[in-house]
Amino acid sequence: MAVSKCVKLTGALTQELLKSVDNVLFDCDGVLWHGDSAIAGASEVVKLLRKKNKRVFFVTNNSTKTQELYAQKLCKMGFEAVKEEVFGTAHCTALYLKQVACFNGGKVYLIGGKALSEELDKVGISYVGPGPDPVFGGMSDWASVPLDPDVKAVVVGFDEHFSYLKLTKALCYLKDPGCLFIGTNTDTKLPLEGGRAVPGTGCLIRAVETAVNRKAIIIGKPSKFIYDCVVSKYGVDPARTVMVGDRLDTDILLGSNCNLKTVLTLTGVTSLVEAQSCAASNCPEERRLAPDFYIDTIGDLLPALQG
Ligand SMILES: [Mg+2]
Repeated sequence: MAVSKCVKLTGALTQELLKSVDNVLFDCDGVLWHGDSAIAGASEVVKLLRKKNKRVFFVTNNSTKTQELYAQKLCKMGFEAVKEEVFGTAHCTALYLKQVACFNGGKVYLIGGKALSEELDKVGISYVGPGPDPVFGGMSDWASVPLDPDVKAVVVGFDEHFSYLKLTKALCYLKDPGCLFIGTNTDTKLPLEGGRAVPGTGCLIRAVETAVNRKAIIIGKPSKFIYDCVVSKYGVDPARTVMVGDRLDTDILLGSNCNLKTVLTLTGVTSLVEAQSCAASNCPEERRLAPDFYIDTIGDLLPALQG
């Protein structure tokens, strides 16, 4: 019989889970904070985990912040954190390009913002493309824009200046099957306060994928690569690691893909009914989206940590 999934974490079970792990991976938005407001008890949970000698990491699909900026945000919101504990998709994209042999010495055509440029700068990778790039002339002008012959990869991240011309340039570069195609993350929406949202990076990646009829290599959750970045730096053991997140198709699926324990917190985008329906599903793919455990809010871990 399959192991039960989506079990409410309370009392002794929480103690048992905490004893069984050395590393806690946190998604941030919807777990530790909402926008610019920390969730009650979250910073105390992080503090007490450290006191119990657990290593804490912040694993985020956000490509608009460098490691430094993310650590600053964490500190500003009352969390003790250093940049080395932050694994965001801007930083991990730079790590990916550094380790891919076929990219060696190449340039990036970057559809992305300042954080991606800065992370590429840090590892000495040059790039073209950031900033506004409005269309001009007619279609034949767009299709014959000069290309940089040194470009060996197209990277697509969050880019508020995404334009038809950028899409056309990506198409031109990616016609070469040897040109790498990398997307930071496939999140379709960025939830804002008050139930509002804006389109996420996944929409930009899908636009390029559709134009070039190729699939991007994805860096962020649920892709294993972002977890591998934590492993290669800190050597964490998946059997002693838990992923805490609020999204099934990114956070929880990352945990399933990497054989981690998983905890869903209900302060973000997922309802208990959705999680339970995945746990009860006969479809193996849907079951992979079901967390091992759930909590109403991160603060529910406090009693077990204070004990
Ligand atoms: Mg989240």
